[in-house]
Amino acid sequence: MPLHPVPNLIGSEWFVPETKEVSPVYNPSTGELIAETPMCGADHVDAVVQNAHEAFADWSEMPPVERIRVLFRYKILLEDHFEELTHMITREHGKTWTEARGDIRRGIEVVEYACGITELMKGEVLENVARGIDCEMVKQPHGVCVGICPYNFPALVPMWMFPLAIACGNTFVFKPSEKVPLTGIRLIELLKEAGLPDGVLNIVQGGRECVDALLEHPLVRAVSFVGSSPVAKYIFEKGTRNGKRVQAAGGAKNFVFVLPDADIPNTVGGLTDAAFGCAGQRCMAGSTAVAIGKAADRLIPSLAERVYGLRVGPTDRENGAGMGAVINPAHRDRISQLLEGSVQEGADLLIDGRGVRVEEEPNGFYLGPSIVDRVKAEMTIAKDEVFGPVLNVMRFDDLEEAIAEANRTPFGNGACIYTQSGKAAREFKHRIKAGMVGINVGVPAPLAYFPFAGWDYSFFGDLHLQGREGVMFYTRHKVTTSRWFSFGEGDIWHKEG
Ligand code: NAD
Repeated sequence: MPLHPVPNLIGSEWFVPETKEVSPVYNPSTGELIAETPMCGADHVDAVVQNAHEAFADWSEMPPVERIRVLFRYKILLEDHFEELTHMITREHGKTWTEARGDIRRGIEVVEYACGITELMKGEVLENVARGIDCEMVKQPHGVCVGICPYNFPALVPMWMFPLAIACGNTFVFKPSEKVPLTGIRLIELLKEAGLPDGVLNIVQGGRECVDALLEHPLVRAVSFVGSSPVAKYIFEKGTRNGKRVQAAGGAKNFVFVLPDADIPNTVGGLTDAAFGCAGQRCMAGSTAVAIGKAADRLIPSLAERVYGLRVGPTDRENGAGMGAVINPAHRDRISQLLEGSVQEGADLLIDGRGVRVEEEPNGFYLGPSIVDRVKAEMTIAKDEVFGPVLNVMRFDDLEEAIAEANRTPFGNGACIYTQSGKAAREFKHRIKAGMVGINVGVPAPLAYFPFAGWDYSFFGDLHLQGREGVMFYTRHKVTTSRWFSFGEGDIWHKEG
């Protein structure tokens, strides 16, 4: 099969740029090379940003109600192309058909939310802040905004960003993950088909060099980033140093607390999805089960049975495997090494996914699900984000001690608890150091109308992605105080008339 082209988009022109370096794009289910991403540098970035800057004057003056007509049409097109997009995601990412559908559905929900921008962008007015003096606040767009994306949600993460950014009147430069650029290209082709004027959304392909050029470009006003924590921190520091508004979401270590009174079938279902959904490649993956008291005795046998039943394999069709491959061979090897290290550090590798064989696709990047029991806080596998199909189990005698240990992790993305005790759930919800909390549900990613809100080493910045915070991020507020002399004051027309 010929390689799929990976173009930039500048205005109305799609073209594959000449670059010194390219980065491979695989179908993880088969191991086949399907595309090569051009790794653009400062020259390409400048051309793209200039174009976005030129489009800003017209787009920002377009009435919001007209801007969102494009998004209403876009929503319909996304629904019409749901199956095609699902296929693209499974092909370049390897997640299951159902997971790919979720990736798109959750993205569409942000588009739907952005369609309400006429309400969301309204400002505030107060008459008579002093006698005869009024004060109003309006929300205005920034100019060129940038979105830098990770590989694990090829549709959803870009859609956390660009629908709200453009609805607010900004223009946008999208830098997809070099590992999964194809879905993003299709998303933007559909947006153009929906009637988005040229230049409002542009794409530049690349990696670090490209990102650096975006962070240094004087015409870039705001940067949204989602990816690993070290890069998120770097983006936040460099972007803000260069005077840009930055929101940078990073990695995670999410704890799933299980109390002895938990409803075990519900817990096992939620925990299996949380730990092994998207082969563990989710910032909301439930990567550590925290078993309190005797909970492990009831949990582990049912969990192991469920995990042994997970079918690993190709996912590019409905009713395909229950768990797909990981993104590339290097990532698979890194996860395998972390598993090996856990054994050397004294953990109990209860289920070892390294030996998995997928006969129909022997070259796919497969790793079976693994459960590592009796993990201790000082072990590498407890500290590093694994980002793969690995569930750690940590055991504690009581809830308070377990919360204290979980709160020592530098990350603070998500956490959840399974229990029938309202008191335990309340204590957990109140005390756990995480931005997104679940009670009797797997680590929950908030929907489009709430902020996606990691804490600490999982998020750098103030305003989170999506929801009202997303609107605040993509606008800046202007407060005007005005005095128009009241009747009887000053030299005004009614006197003359
Ligand atoms: P990554 O950090 O390697 O890459 C993310 C983006 O940054 C890519 O576009 C990449 O080209 C760019 N990049 C990579 N290295 C860079 C560097 N040194 N300088 C500048 N730019 C660089 O992340 P990934 O492997 O694509 O994605 C997985 C990570 O994303 C995980 O850590 C996961 O937890 C995180 N993630 C977080 C959230 C969240 O909401 N907090 C959501 C999804 C994924």
